[in-house]
Amino acid sequence: MSATILSGTETAAVVRGEVADRVATLGKASKQVGLATILVGDDPPSKIYVRNKHRAARKAGMISIDRHLPGTASQTDIERVIAELNADDQVDGMILQLPLPDGLDAEGAVETIQPTKDADGLHPFNLGLLVMGRPGPLPATPRGIMRILAHYDIATAGRTAVVVGRSFLVGRPMGLLLGQKGIDATVIQAHSRTRELAEVCRQADILVAAVGRSQMIDSDYVKPGATVIDVGINRDGEELVGDVDFDAVVEIAGAITPVPGGVGPMTIASLLANTVALAEARA
Ligand code: NAP
Repeated sequence: MSATILSGTETAAVVRGEVADRVATLGKASKQVGLATILVGDDPPSKIYVRNKHRAARKAGMISIDRHLPGTASQTDIERVIAELNADDQVDGMILQLPLPDGLDAEGAVETIQPTKDADGLHPFNLGLLVMGRPGPLPATPRGIMRILAHYDIATAGRTAVVVGRSFLVGRPMGLLLGQKGIDATVIQAHSRTRELAEVCRQADILVAAVGRSQMIDSDYVKPGATVIDVGINRDGEELVGDVDFDAVVEIAGAITPVPGGVGPMTIASLLANTVALAEARA
């Protein structure tokens, strides 16, 4: 039997509609919502992601501000632009597109973003709020995944969730969100030093793959009926493939996100949702 396909495209459309309504409500009170992006260098995928973020922001009725620095920009150059955007009243949220070119300190740069304008929810202050279970902008990709689970009524309480990956961008906040009060999954955080990874993953009712290794998670890693969330975006020639071997896993999982059209669209929708919430807080 084939798994239910968890469509990020469909879920993101719902979120983007909600965001557009909130932007329009703020507009009636003469508050425009502004999202700024900072791109350093000319990495082709990053350029596409940034372009898509601007397109989505404008479609939701936001002002979008695009700051593009050359690949030769220094740490000081980047932090100067961030300081300008921190001081710019038009900007409610900003994102620094990652990864930065080699030799630059991404975490150091993110720390200079004002936490109340941190649309990606990656500032240590906001990650601290997440650890404490207090409201704040959430890392966009994990926030989007939680929304997919809610949209498709996937039960989490008392379920075992295995998150493969522990990056500060995806894996670690994902584990925190799944384990927080009210969501109540029992979380196992796996990584490159985890022993018997397939066996660990087979315990999962909800399996999140955020590894960055093309189709690594095959049917051996999946318990029949499990919900499988594929965060990975890997390039195979012209094609985008996930961390999950979709064709094999779709036959045994209960539900699965495709790549593309799964987690990716939710990341942008969550970024917009964070930005409008920051704008509401400022208004
Ligand atoms: P990352 O910073 O490279 O982290 C990868 C994680 O996977 C690390 O924690 C690493 O463990 C673990 N890992 C690596 N090889 C492993 C193995 N063989 N077995 C078990 N764990 C292993 O990557 P990331 O930023 O979290 O991104 C992960 C993937 O998601 C990438 O493909 C990225 O492109 C994609 N992504 C997608 C979206 C989206 O919107 N869909 C957003 C962000 C990222 P260690 O900590 O032990 O090194």
